[in-house]
Amino acid sequence: MGVFGVFGAKKASSVIYYGLHGLQHRGQEGAGIAVFDENGQYLHHRGLGLISEVFNENRLSALKGHIGVGTTQYANAARGGLDNVQPMYFHHKGGDLCIAGDGNLVNGPQIREFLENRGILLHSSTDSELLANLIKKEHSEARIINIIRALNMMEGGFAFIIMTRNRIYTCRDKYGIKPLCIGQLGDGYVVSSESCAFELIGATLLRDVQPGEVVTIDEKGLRSNDYSQFKRRMMCGMEYIYIARPDSDIDGCNVHAYRMESGRILARECPADADIVVGVPDSSLSAAMGYAEESGLPYEMGLIKNRYVARTFIQPLQEMREKGVVMKLSAVRSIVNGKRIVLVDDSIVRGTTSLKIVNILRNAGAKEIHVRIASPMMTHPCFYGVDTPTKEELLCGNGRSLEEAARRIGADTLGYISPEGSRASSFGCSDLCLACFTGQYPTDLYQDNK
Ligand code: SF4
Repeated sequence: MGVFGVFGAKKASSVIYYGLHGLQHRGQEGAGIAVFDENGQYLHHRGLGLISEVFNENRLSALKGHIGVGTTQYANAARGGLDNVQPMYFHHKGGDLCIAGDGNLVNGPQIREFLENRGILLHSSTDSELLANLIKKEHSEARIINIIRALNMMEGGFAFIIMTRNRIYTCRDKYGIKPLCIGQLGDGYVVSSESCAFELIGATLLRDVQPGEVVTIDEKGLRSNDYSQFKRRMMCGMEYIYIARPDSDIDGCNVHAYRMESGRILARECPADADIVVGVPDSSLSAAMGYAEESGLPYEMGLIKNRYVARTFIQPLQEMREKGVVMKLSAVRSIVNGKRIVLVDDSIVRGTTSLKIVNILRNAGAKEIHVRIASPMMTHPCFYGVDTPTKEELLCGNGRSLEEAARRIGADTLGYISPEGSRASSFGCSDLCLACFTGQYPTDLYQDNK
């Protein structure tokens, strides 16, 4: 999911609208924008669909204010529907709150039970609602203290933007799993899941929010508080591998540079006897370039993407996923016909998409297809908000051999980068969470998730 916040802009809703366009790849199920106007009145609009479908000129001009928050919504099986489209608004005697959050709490069920046992009725399945209620149950007069206490009850991977009438608080989990960064826009500030959104609106990247940090943004500028002394740098490896845009910098590492390096390492770890290298558009193109550079094989545009079809991985239903890949990719026959191809992809989840892509290339005359994956073998589910299937549904989740997996996807050979290679691709910027590839989760998973 993409979150975006603004403090100190004349037309906050327009800035957010364009910022969210830069985060559309993080979620296409819904979008929302909320602002406080100069009288402290809360104004908002949210809906299901792309940003361009949910908002128009009239809706945006009705959202007048200098402070605001927006989201692009990523739905999974548990969190679909309009009720879960953020930002969410909460009344509070100490001042109303609006919250938008990316990620997932591993102790969400326990917090839910804790709150419900105290008579609190919850209306959505979002972690933002849990955070709001944890803040509300604290009684310090200093709101930052209440926020720090609430965050200390939360475990998992998350990035939140909390808006009040005159302030934005922005925070990131203490493991550093979810990305969040701050930019400067004139005299004001912007906060975003990814720095690529800043280019669109003419903002400049100031810094990442640090793991375990809350940054307060108001008319006095930026102030930092650590809500936890326990800090790690375990950025979600899938952000670099697949989710984030190549023009984003996360924790000091550019995503395109990461992918290029992972392609080079993949070429060294899993060479192939072939004629050309083809990447699966779009998220695998950087890795394919790196593979071609290192192997000395020519990089060719053997697959073309229809840009107006939604991303496969992000759609919630299997049938929608399967239809998606047929609609969105075509082979360039004149390039692939009669060739031995190294097909570089960023990851394999169930293998259904890979099988279809291999078939598209075979139908266009490819002689051999050697699939090379710029992430390690996915063997475990994610508990931090990325919608991965159960172990049993994963192509390699049940101990299937590499040869059998290759057969299932119709490839001549199959190779994956190692976890060490994946870590080395970040040039030492982050340790990386690679739990869906290694089963080594950076957090406790709590009883219900095991
Ligand atoms: S388990 Fe995988 S998808 Fe989930 S945060 Fe870790 S690397 Fe990312």
